[in-house]
Amino acid sequence: MSALSSVASTATKPLPQGAPSPLVKRLGILPMPNLEWTPEIERETAHIYARVQHVIPSVEWPFHAPYIAAINRLKKERNAVILAHNYQTPEIFHGVADIVGDSLQLARKATEVDADIIVQCGVHFMAETSKLLNPEKTILIPDTRAGCSLAASITGADVRLLKQRYPGVPVVTYVNSSADVKAETDVCCTSSNAVQIVESLGVDRVIFLPDEYLGQYVATQTKVKLILWKGHCEVHERFTGEELRAYREADPTIEIIAHPECPPDVLAEADFTGSTAHMIDWVKTGQHKRVLMVTECSMASNVAAEVPEVDFIRPCNLCPHMKRITLPKILDSLVYLRDEVIVDPAIAQKARASVERMIALGR
Ligand code: SF4
Repeated sequence: MSALSSVASTATKPLPQGAPSPLVKRLGILPMPNLEWTPEIERETAHIYARVQHVIPSVEWPFHAPYIAAINRLKKERNAVILAHNYQTPEIFHGVADIVGDSLQLARKATEVDADIIVQCGVHFMAETSKLLNPEKTILIPDTRAGCSLAASITGADVRLLKQRYPGVPVVTYVNSSADVKAETDVCCTSSNAVQIVESLGVDRVIFLPDEYLGQYVATQTKVKLILWKGHCEVHERFTGEELRAYREADPTIEIIAHPECPPDVLAEADFTGSTAHMIDWVKTGQHKRVLMVTECSMASNVAAEVPEVDFIRPCNLCPHMKRITLPKILDSLVYLRDEVIVDPAIAQKARASVERMIALGR
């Protein structure tokens, strides 16, 4: 199944060409703002550029700044907030986001947001999760093609077959999954809390979906036996242990930190393994000089902007799905109110329960 078909399973059905969506009929389209680079825009965005100058060359700022100023004004006009995942580019992460974090942090914060509209700068399963937790709010995603190889690796029908094969064995599913799969799940987890969630069930065996490598890592941290699926993150699976050994040979002083979606030979080379949120804490709270960050490329840029005293080495693997979200598309999203994320209410009710169980256990 492709990432696109996974996205299409719960997205709004395409409207006839030219027909305004019910949302547009209700709220209307706004005029497109002026996007010229002027001295006023330079002054208005100077405080933002001061934060990102370490990672965005000055020659690029005249392109980004007019979009950033326009988006920040439109957010107020629409009573909208922007949630941005750690893998978003620095001009989005530092320029227009109101809330940033990993999947779990965004899922939690989405429930506390006081706004009519949430613009999700991340991939489609994250926008679905925000919709599950905020059924009354309008959730927009700037590009519906922003999928995920993990989410696309499994369907709700696959999970039903697994449950037939292993009757009575509870299903724990990584949040990187479609609402359809979450609806067949007992409890969701993230890479931050996977061990805690697996152990909270008090059983000796669980079906753990869909990330095989995260499952293998969790299995090293618990006595619970995990039945795994062969889903992989197409960004993290590209790293190799051999590549990391070459970096270490070139500079034995570097510290290597890696995300648990990486293959086992990569984690074997790491000095620290943790979720995106745990990696950020590790970098910010320790005395580190040179750090090799083995995860999606923009995350290292975003952390580097906040911790300029640490020298980051970034073997750059970009997530092509995350990079579909750009400032021009975010602006279009706010002006034209697209694209709204809709989840079938019958699926949403069951999927929401599995996410809420996770959040309750996290507390
Ligand atoms: S980085 Fe990997 S897990 Fe995250 S959205 Fe991209 S493909 Fe999916």
